[in-house]
Amino acid sequence: MTRFIFITGGVVSSLGKGLASAALGALLQARGYSVRLRKLDPYLNVDPGTMSPFQHGEVYVTDDGAETDLDLGHYERFTGVPSRQSDNVTTGRIYSDVIAKERRGDYLGATVQVIPHVTDAIKEFVKADLNGEDFVLCEIGGTVGDIESLPFLEAIRQLGNELGPERSMFMHLTLVPYIAAAGELKTKPTQHSVKELLGLGIQPHVLICRMEREMPEAERRKIALFCNVRQDCVIPGLDVDSIYAVPVAYHEQGMDTVVCRHFRLPIDKKPSLTIWNDIVEAVRRPEGEVTIAVVGKYVQLPDAYKSLSEALTHGGIANNISVKLDWIDSEIFDREDVVQHLEHVHGILVPGGFGERGSEGKIKAVQFARERSIPYFGICFGMQMAVVEAARNLAGMEGASSTEFGHAAEPVVGLMTEWSKGSDVEQRGEEDDLGGTMRLGSYLCDLKPETHVAEIYRSSTISERHRHRYEVNITYREKLEAAGMIFSGLSPDGVLPEIVEYKDHPWFIGVQFHPELKSKPFDPHPLFTSFIAAAVAQSRLV
Ligand code: GLN
Repeated sequence: MTRFIFITGGVVSSLGKGLASAALGALLQARGYSVRLRKLDPYLNVDPGTMSPFQHGEVYVTDDGAETDLDLGHYERFTGVPSRQSDNVTTGRIYSDVIAKERRGDYLGATVQVIPHVTDAIKEFVKADLNGEDFVLCEIGGTVGDIESLPFLEAIRQLGNELGPERSMFMHLTLVPYIAAAGELKTKPTQHSVKELLGLGIQPHVLICRMEREMPEAERRKIALFCNVRQDCVIPGLDVDSIYAVPVAYHEQGMDTVVCRHFRLPIDKKPSLTIWNDIVEAVRRPEGEVTIAVVGKYVQLPDAYKSLSEALTHGGIANNISVKLDWIDSEIFDREDVVQHLEHVHGILVPGGFGERGSEGKIKAVQFARERSIPYFGICFGMQMAVVEAARNLAGMEGASSTEFGHAAEPVVGLMTEWSKGSDVEQRGEEDDLGGTMRLGSYLCDLKPETHVAEIYRSSTISERHRHRYEVNITYREKLEAAGMIFSGLSPDGVLPEIVEYKDHPWFIGVQFHPELKSKPFDPHPLFTSFIAAAVAQSRLV
């Protein structure tokens, strides 16, 4: 029997609803249950693929090629369950499906309305593509009170009614602010938020109260009384020093116990939380520190590189090392010398990116890492810039560039309009829509034997997730290999370069895919583990 837990948020955004959902997923798994996590996003974009990372943070890509909300990254990192296209939906997608159905005449002449047609489409989404999981955790994006989330809240209200309390539960995450002048925690915003939810017909069973200070019993009693929930269902969510401490913190506050009690599941047997305790221990007691420079474009907003910074932390966990990140806007290298910014670091990483702005700075960072033998990790755009750097500075092709920036005399990185996926051929036109038209999702890659990557992966074929429109141009392979750059990973048809590296460098790898998307704290990605190990070796030299 699949049970559904709906998680809403109130008062303000950015309270960690995604993390709370992911942590609850991990706790239920630790009790032996299977879980699936989903997110309903009330905005009008069909998916976050076309949204600026400055606005929305990273776009998380699934194996099946969906561009989704970054919370799905948290879900995967905490539960290890690979997310799918069917785990994230937006108002935009719901409406475009409903309108397409209306145009086809599928509604048989009915007047198409928000209730029941839009809410039905939302309910279908919540229940679709499941495999008998014990729990589906369904997070509603945004904050209760937003106009755009109304159809979603109405849909989950209906679902709660249809499924009954034995198969459904509502959890609401709010803020309990501390007012320094009064020296008090204030419960009123929570009361108002729950009132708003009640007005929509939803009585939450559990409240997660984010706060900076311990909750005195009196406040807990007050919230329980005014919000009509049991006292032990008022769960305090205090800030913790590492996001990986969140599952244990919520367990200690009784979160998984009240959930199991609600569904009449056994509560005596405690969940096994050893992996989480071990991870937190490794994060809290590292044996040293390395500094990695991340030379990118969206560096002001850490959420834009969420999976990347987490994967670097995982590499640290695997090496018992704390990883300090120096976020550097590559445009600074248009004005200032790279040396002063990069001399002291133990590793340089150029992450994914789009557009010409800042690209010359990234190329300078690559050159510095190559010439000074500093570990270099290029991801997607970071690989493409490493190839441009090699073409210009090692193979003597002055006009080498990417066609992403306009016409290039030597298009070492160019637009691919056709490629194969398994036995299918995928095609794109130069003028195609921007949304959902990149090479997206998991693709296989063959590793060349006896190369650095083959040694790191200990495998001859790998599968990694992609999100890009341009490719390293295979026709330049010979020239670049003659200059010393090894093409150590290729698509199975041998047409698309996936990995480049140098032999006579301590650690220099560029990958066309995004390995950070598959890294987990309990299963760090081998490339990140190896990169951080190289940074540790580098730290002993400087
Ligand atoms: N802008 C490049 C492309 O579209 C790289 C994309 C990325 O780094 N994700 O190919």
